[in-house]
Amino acid sequence: MRTVEDHRAALLALVAPLAPVTVATAQAGGLVSAAPVVARLDLPGFDNSAMDGYAVHAADLHGPLPVRLPVIADIPAGDPRALHVPRGSAARIMTGAPLPAEADAVVPVEDTDAGVSVVEIRARVAPGRHVRRRGEDVRAGEPVVATGTVLTPGALALVAAANVTSVRAHPRPRVALFSTGDELIPLGDEPAPGQIVDSNQLMLAELVRAAGAELAHAGHLPDDAEAVRALLADPPGAPDLVLTSGGVSMGAHDTVKEVLTATGTVEFVKVAMRPGMPQGAGTLGPRGIPVVTLPGNPVSSLVSFQVFVVPLLRRLAGRAGEPMLFEARAGARWSSVGGKVEYTRVEVSGGVAVPSAGQGSHMLGALAGANALAIVPASVTQVHPGDRVLCMPLLGAEAPR
Ligand code: AMP
Ligand code: MG
Repeated sequence: MRTVEDHRAALLALVAPLAPVTVATAQAGGLVSAAPVVARLDLPGFDNSAMDGYAVHAADLHGPLPVRLPVIADIPAGDPRALHVPRGSAARIMTGAPLPAEADAVVPVEDTDAGVSVVEIRARVAPGRHVRRRGEDVRAGEPVVATGTVLTPGALALVAAANVTSVRAHPRPRVALFSTGDELIPLGDEPAPGQIVDSNQLMLAELVRAAGAELAHAGHLPDDAEAVRALLADPPGAPDLVLTSGGVSMGAHDTVKEVLTATGTVEFVKVAMRPGMPQGAGTLGPRGIPVVTLPGNPVSSLVSFQVFVVPLLRRLAGRAGEPMLFEARAGARWSSVGGKVEYTRVEVSGGVAVPSAGQGSHMLGALAGANALAIVPASVTQVHPGDRVLCMPLLGAEAPR
């Protein structure tokens, strides 16, 4: 049996970061930059006021307070006029409005009587006070986003402020999903005897999106070798990754395994984990599209996605390393299988992890409440209250706290 780490390494070896593309800044949220972003503008672009108040000459406030100054202009943000403030006068100015020539400081409105034609000023300011200088934040021509940076909302704000309209980035990985099994019916149909709703397809589609990837295709395959062979030889939607669920156990109708074993480019292995022991991965067709065959049991499928597919999608997207794990304290006693890593669905709250009810790999009943997987090592067969347990947050769940 293969360890989880070895299997993950085998999967990661199947993929490389997707070739960078040019993406409109407005579409680049969540992508990873593949080249430095260079500012096209100084930030701020001009000297401007940091406060609502009065633009003044600091030197005019040296005498006894209060000082009364005539207000010679009212300057809103966006004011295009080239104004100047002579010595002995002030201009009312709003936050972000261009500082008029000659003025060297801003007195906040709170330190004045808010006068409109004459203002009474009750506090001194040092030269430069409450003034944002042109280029003090960013200089035009400077790289502002390094290669390999996740374009977070904050990073995008910077790119947009610097008036950069497109970036080089690794594209979002495109994933084609196939549920397999003759027993599956679409959500909403009435199940005939022996049939069940295809819940993996929705779950996996949601996981794909939560992992920052996009769906290239989502479909269903019957347990029919010819149909499976035909579709997987040339999967629709030009995907960067194909995921199947089901058909990879030891049964007589495990078509995915049967068909893909025959291709010689997909390997089926047992991984020392529970749930999720049967795993398969490799490449498909002449284009060598990476494929991961997830187990059919919903919980196995979910766990396998978290443990194997997420790192793979991260690598395709140009992200570094593994997702963060966190530590919690066990809030209950539970037993775990020896010789395999067990991923126990837990509810973590206040740093305490308690297993959700019903841990069978087919059991969906407790999935709604779980927000993490506790990773119980192969050497551990009993978790005791108070034990430290390493946990993996469940994708899309409210962050455990
Ligand atoms: P299999 O590996 O195809 O034998 O599937 C294992 C178990 O998972 C069986 O009980 C299947 O009915 C169930 N299963 C397979 N695919 C799905 C799916 N897409 N949605 C829900 N359950 C599934
Ligand atoms: Mg099946």
